[in-house]
Amino acid sequence: AGQPSKVARPRSVAAFERALTLMPGGVNSPARAFGAVGGTPIFIDRADGAYLYDVDGNRYIDYIGSWGPMILGHRHPEVVAAIERALAHGTSYGAPTEAESELAERIIDAVASIEKVRLVSSGTEATMSAIRLARGYTGRDMLIKFAGNYHGHVDSLLVAAGSSAATLGAPNSPGVTAGASKDTLVVEYNDVAELEQAFTAHGDKIAGVILEPVVGNMGVVAPSREFVDALHRLTQKHGALLVCDEVMTGFRVAFGGAQSVFGIQPDITTLGKIVGGGLPVGAYGGRAEIMNYILPAGKVFQAGTLSGNPLATAAGSATLRLLKEESPYERLDALTSRLANGLHHAVERAGIPHTIARVGSMMTLFFHPGPIRGWREASQCDTARFASYFWGLMDRGVYMPCSQFEALFVSTAHTEADIDATIAAAEDALR
Ligand code: PMP
Repeated sequence: AGQPSKVARPRSVAAFERALTLMPGGVNSPARAFGAVGGTPIFIDRADGAYLYDVDGNRYIDYIGSWGPMILGHRHPEVVAAIERALAHGTSYGAPTEAESELAERIIDAVASIEKVRLVSSGTEATMSAIRLARGYTGRDMLIKFAGNYHGHVDSLLVAAGSSAATLGAPNSPGVTAGASKDTLVVEYNDVAELEQAFTAHGDKIAGVILEPVVGNMGVVAPSREFVDALHRLTQKHGALLVCDEVMTGFRVAFGGAQSVFGIQPDITTLGKIVGGGLPVGAYGGRAEIMNYILPAGKVFQAGTLSGNPLATAAGSATLRLLKEESPYERLDALTSRLANGLHHAVERAGIPHTIARVGSMMTLFFHPGPIRGWREASQCDTARFASYFWGLMDRGVYMPCSQFEALFVSTAHTEADIDATIAAAEDALR
């Protein structure tokens, strides 16, 4: 019922029926259930380069790239080879390896504000640990986060969160206690006056400000110059730490992350996605003086059985090495610009109000005339229009993010022909 797709995918339907009996909502992460666009999720059999293949044998040009990690495309031969080499030695030791130092070195080398780093296994773990560190370092409790920014499912950050939380209309999840969220102040993104008010009211209690330096989780929104200046000025004035959540943007919008593009000097940076090359990894790092508060150098507790996992560090190091050697960022920028222009003309010809936001190889087509500066505007998008656009593309072999409030990602495996085929599919779908 309510299947908005025009293409029959019997094996996906059967796979979903089975999964529904086994896992809540049939999935292990909510966005995958297509709650925002309706219809049956498509079950993936395999992926290669820029393409996903479903269990019914359909091919899709992939613009989610596992929600960001696959910047080199799927199964890049050198990443696969690195994983295979690590695999031959063992899959987990719970004891230190040189491979962890290699990945740490690559991260420290690339991200200007990181002198020391701790590896974890997901972005959620990275942000959870980073805010514990900010609180442990400053001896303060309160945090500022921005409406529509998502930092993983950390209790105290599941307040006005973007991404699935926005899509599902559940900014405050049941099960998050009032105690866990009472120290979180939510401020509108890019709103300097609101940020100033929060600091004026609570300045000496604020441990830190966490932000997505380019938001991906309400769709793409870039920070204004004034906003970045205010973040520096107010955190410094009040002795709070600036935490840049670069889980999505790190090694994505530039090799040095969004902080290198927008001139941000964070005290702590969180990473994930690309630094694991498609395997589970997160990381957080910053000035050595701050990072040395972490156990066992300091007293702030944080640990992990699979942290620095040999397969994940191998995939991550291979990915960062290739990104450094090949520096594909200009090409990714050109490819994604070509996509943005083509989609803009297609939607314009269809006479539909829209705006496109893009930073490097992250972009969102908003069904809203724009400009979109924060959640106030993003939340006004025509999500019904988005759902039909999404299924129109899906049925034509293009796999876009299944929510208006997500970024799409272009990889180095995409070709100009893939981009042009995508634009042609959009023109056809919009007609
Ligand atoms: N921070 C940001 C900015 C993210 O985009 C995400 C995931 N989309 C996370 C944190 C959480 O990462 P993970 O899903 O690996 O826990």
